[in-house]
Amino acid sequence: MKDLRFIVLLCLFASALPAITAAQTSPANSAPAPTSAAPALAQPSVGESPQDTILEYSPPPASSKTTGLNAYVTGFGASKRVVVWDNTIAKATVPETLFVFGHEMGHYVLHHIPKEIAIDAIILLFLLYLGYRLSRAMLAQWGQQWGIRDLRDWASLPALMFVITVLAFLATPVFNAVSRHFEHEADRYGLEVIHGIVPNPNQVAAHYFQKSGEKNLADPDPSEFAKIWFFDHPTRKERVHFVARYNPWSKGEETRYVK
Ligand SMILES: [Zn+2]
Repeated sequence: MKDLRFIVLLCLFASALPAITAAQTSPANSAPAPTSAAPALAQPSVGESPQDTILEYSPPPASSKTTGLNAYVTGFGASKRVVVWDNTIAKATVPETLFVFGHEMGHYVLHHIPKEIAIDAIILLFLLYLGYRLSRAMLAQWGQQWGIRDLRDWASLPALMFVITVLAFLATPVFNAVSRHFEHEADRYGLEVIHGIVPNPNQVAAHYFQKSGEKNLADPDPSEFAKIWFFDHPTRKERVHFVARYNPWSKGEETRYVK
């Protein structure tokens, strides 16, 4: 059980590593944000001075490596930040960029990063226990035939790798489903936060997904199998469908996040 505890700790650390290393990266240069309307979104929800927290990031610009459009939220503590690629600012309209910023702000305000790390760590814990039981059962059955004494024998490494690979493959749909849920909620937040600031927010968001899908060469309508196994965001079709229709204001319904 001592070995198991060590592996669990190692995996928890590994799952948090991308966020930790991202937090240590600081911008080489900073200048006032080009999207002057972004503070209008940040003010009511975040409650801190957006002028201090919205920076232009350079170098290297995303355009030096790709023509795609994207943005993300990253970091821990004081380094938490939304990054909007220069391609997005250049190729999307200001209302579209505000929707993108609103989506990323949703991840930030709704604490999606710590929530997803916690959920993934719980799933991982379950998978590790399953892996532990499976590898023991496998060696009890075939260990002698394979010349492996037990799990402490270095010769068991290929068998362990096999179990980990199979479990990681089978667990991929679960991790993807968790991610797709948070991405869907961030889309909802993005629409709610630009309501009243951007005219026709449904049309703006739908047009952005259409445009960025074309630029990023995204599959417009993948099969259900491809979605379950390969998509950590909802498909373009699903996103366009949702953002074009989500309108609680017109029906007199409650908004979920931005009141
Ligand atoms: Zn997102």
